[in-house]
Amino acid sequence: MRFDVAIIGGGAAGLLCAITAGRRGRRTLVIEHNDQVGRKILISGGGRCNFTNTNTTAENFVSKNPHFCRSALARYTPDDIIELVKRHRIEFYEKKLGQLFCRDSSRPFVEMLLTECRNAGVSIKTNCSVEHVEKDKSFRLQTNLGEFECESLVIATGGLSFPKIGATDLGYRIAKQFGLRIESTRPSLVALVFNRKQVFSKLAGVTIDAEVTAGGNSFRENILFTHRGLSGPAILQASNYWTQENEVMIDLIPDRSIEAELKIMRSSKKMLSTFLGSMLPERFVELFVLPKLRNKSLDQLSRIDIDIIANMMHKWSVGFRETEGWHKAEVTLGGVSTDELSSKTMEAIKVPGLYFIGEVIDVTGWLGGYNFQWAWSSGYAAGSSV
Ligand SMILES: Cc1cc2nc3c(=O)[nH]c(=O)nc-3n(C[C@H](O)[C@H](O)[C@H](O)COP(=O)(O)OP(=O)(O)OC[C@H]3O[C@@H](n4cnc5c(N)ncnc54)[C@H](O)[C@@H]3O)c2cc1C
Repeated sequence: MRFDVAIIGGGAAGLLCAITAGRRGRRTLVIEHNDQVGRKILISGGGRCNFTNTNTTAENFVSKNPHFCRSALARYTPDDIIELVKRHRIEFYEKKLGQLFCRDSSRPFVEMLLTECRNAGVSIKTNCSVEHVEKDKSFRLQTNLGEFECESLVIATGGLSFPKIGATDLGYRIAKQFGLRIESTRPSLVALVFNRKQVFSKLAGVTIDAEVTAGGNSFRENILFTHRGLSGPAILQASNYWTQENEVMIDLIPDRSIEAELKIMRSSKKMLSTFLGSMLPERFVELFVLPKLRNKSLDQLSRIDIDIIANMMHKWSVGFRETEGWHKAEVTLGGVSTDELSSKTMEAIKVPGLYFIGEVIDVTGWLGGYNFQWAWSSGYAAGSSV
């Protein structure tokens, strides 16, 4: 039961790390408490796994230290994972904005990682729960399947989202046990809940192409009304930057100036509701614009009316009280502090031989394949060093 390297967590980062270490001739063990590895990969991207983004840069990640991810991203790039996928003849396509998805399903992708593990001589123990970790000269792991000893221990337990498929806080507990700091965690890439009971629950299901700004970052994609708040890709992206204290700004009609258009149409007899209804869903206009404005014709609008309408359309300021929580979130914001880790190897500076990779670290990607790219890149960085 002695290994050079033990990796706790058989997800994206853990498997890529194992392949890299195994190929270097390191005796490598992956410990996974589920009955199979890669469950999150299987359900990701609607079952087709958005496994990378060809436009990946450090700017697509949120972290206390925005430079931390640079070195790892430069050493294992989207081209590297694409090369692996092509070698295994897995069909993929670009959905939009550099987002690469498997053509049919994520299953061949997980099988690819398992084949690579086998070829690299990696041992995988599933249904294996780590009960206790201690360190003297080497690391000793007590598990339900017995004791394992290893020179290097890699924590690849992921974040806290989707507890029903096996997320646990073990990675954070091990970090704390060894005196490493954790940046506070919260669900992210997640729908947000309005801070006041709003009339908009009647709009559940309605989508609008909008530009959403939070924390100085703007995202142009759809927003989707839910029963309790807003979702859709633009809101999920903004959730990485949202805070309870700051309102999110939404431009409902980006690329156009409602003020300029209303001024040009000042002599028109068209109703404001008809004018706005040509750009936005009618149900939304009915709920969003007060009848005393909505029922005016454009030639009846005063300068003040035009200012009010332009503000409503381009600067809708929305307060949210919370997220929809861990059961709905795609990722965890925060995690093991990057100050504690080497950005080249992911090794804990204070604890030689202990490594953290993937989502358990305080590095969170945007929606669109960036989180998997971080898992591959950080997994490769550690796998090259252990
Ligand atoms: C629904 C959903 C869809 C997503 N879609 C995408 C997408 O399309 N593209 C993208 O880039 N990102 C996507 N993500 C995010 C992405 O899946 C994660 O960021 C990525 O999987 C993180 O990799 P990881 O290896 O760090 O963690 P994980 O992949 O979560 O792997 C962690 C592993 O550790 C195991 N584990 C946890 N605790 C223990 C323990 N105590 N003992 C033993 N094993 C343990 C878990 O069972 C799991 O197998 C999605 C996330 C969700 C929830």
